[in-house]
Amino acid sequence: MRILVTNDDGIYSPGIAALADVARAFGEVCIVAPDVEMSSAGHSITATRPLSYKRTPRDVEAYRVNGTPADCVALGNHAWGRVDVVLSGVNLGPNLGNSMWHSGTLAGAKQGTLLGLRGIAFSTPVGDEEPAFDAMKPWIARVLELLLPATELNLVNVNLPSGTPRGMRWTRQSVRHYDGRVVPGRDPMGRSHYWMTVVPLEAAEPGTDRHAVESGYVSITPLRLDLTDHAALDAAVRRHPAEDAAPVS
Ligand code: MN
Repeated sequence: MRILVTNDDGIYSPGIAALADVARAFGEVCIVAPDVEMSSAGHSITATRPLSYKRTPRDVEAYRVNGTPADCVALGNHAWGRVDVVLSGVNLGPNLGNSMWHSGTLAGAKQGTLLGLRGIAFSTPVGDEEPAFDAMKPWIARVLELLLPATELNLVNVNLPSGTPRGMRWTRQSVRHYDGRVVPGRDPMGRSHYWMTVVPLEAAEPGTDRHAVESGYVSITPLRLDLTDHAALDAAVRRHPAEDAAPVS
């Protein structure tokens, strides 16, 4: 199995080193990751300047790219040839619920799925101290033992709790609202600047990714590329017939 490992925290993050270390037991590993942190880059790709990569000394083949996580996966797949699965992370910070929309970590996995490969994203909360990646590695291995044979799952979002997990749970995405606040401030020159915040406003719903991680479980959420709201589509076709806009089946 050929495993491409990427992230959005940059190639020098301890999280990607831990993920690549575990992945080595499952196949041939190549790291292709951004040369600087690209957190919250979402699924952006670089379209206005050229990309390049440089080899980076590691235990496995590793390359740093002057681009986004999605760039790294596209470029890595192009340069390395056929990749079976893209692993992205382990992100320093959770990617739960609505934060999936901004996540560069998930975008790395998602780019793999867009290219017809399989993608799995890994994230974990971070506090004042660095996450205990050595203690986390057996749980990453358990997740891979579960997911790699499940070839019908082509995009999966995994979040590990802080501390020793109580177990693993299949979950759905939490869709609670977050504050989305813009917090103004001043830089040392007196100029206005702003920080964005993403703080959930409501308690997590049972069965969701947030609820599982807050309860101390590893959360495993199968995702799909199809964003269509199929129930809304069916209802719209019934309630608002559009003569020339019938969906083509
Ligand atoms: Mn990140």
